[in-house]
Amino acid sequence: ELSKHFLELTHIESFYGKIQALQGVNLYVDKGEIVTLIGSNGAGKSTTLKSISGQVTPKTGSILFDGKDITKNPTHVNAHLGIAQVPEGRRIFPRLSVRENLQIGAFAERSKSIIAERMERVFGYFPRLKERLEQKGGTMSGGEQQMLAIGRALMMKPKLLMLDEPSMGLAPIIVEQIFDIIKEMNKEGMTILLVEQNAFQALQLADRGYVIQTGNIVLEGPCSELLTNQQVREAYLA
Ligand code: ATP
Repeated sequence: ELSKHFLELTHIESFYGKIQALQGVNLYVDKGEIVTLIGSNGAGKSTTLKSISGQVTPKTGSILFDGKDITKNPTHVNAHLGIAQVPEGRRIFPRLSVRENLQIGAFAERSKSIIAERMERVFGYFPRLKERLEQKGGTMSGGEQQMLAIGRALMMKPKLLMLDEPSMGLAPIIVEQIFDIIKEMNKEGMTILLVEQNAFQALQLADRGYVIQTGNIVLEGPCSELLTNQQVREAYLA
């Protein structure tokens, strides 16, 4: 066995040209967990997710997922292995309908009945999407677009769902709704890696957390501990 964890990053260093965004990130996620990665602007949160999904190829270190070495895999291979990423800023297809956006999420599935089944499951979490099936994605509200982006990721029936700042730009009450749904998906078995600037809410939601600062993990532990940690309180919960 390569790793006892479902997902494990060991000493990941990632670059954009000469800019080093990750300086040796170590992190793991076990099956059934919600793990959150918090940190300020530019700390390397998105780059960590992109390194896992394959949008960025790490220069050194290793990423193991579900018993496989995926360090240098391209995005489409990792998608087939069950890694879904809901990107920052949502990036749904604005000119396509809600239905079409969801169908695109199930790109790897041919069976119409399976696609229909998955769609019903998505509607279970997000009934609003069912009411707006023919509406153009781009005309949905920010919160609805976030729901659509998550729904689209669920359509591929992932084993690991990675969310990049789902709270961004949303009213507190909508954030609460979305976080409740994330919790529900987790209770039904989904493993989740959540990137957030909204540290307080993320730490309340997740099981364990990591704090990243200029490309380094500087703190980690159960969220209950991080919530009372003096350093975390001063830097992220003030
Ligand atoms: P934010 O919360 O602002 O999205 P983040 O923690 O997700 O921040 P990253 O987006 O991972 O941070 O960025 C980490 C570092 O890499 C930053 O210094 C950023 O400027 C740099 N960076 C990110 N994307 C690129 C890129 N495409 N080209 C060059 N540098 C980049």
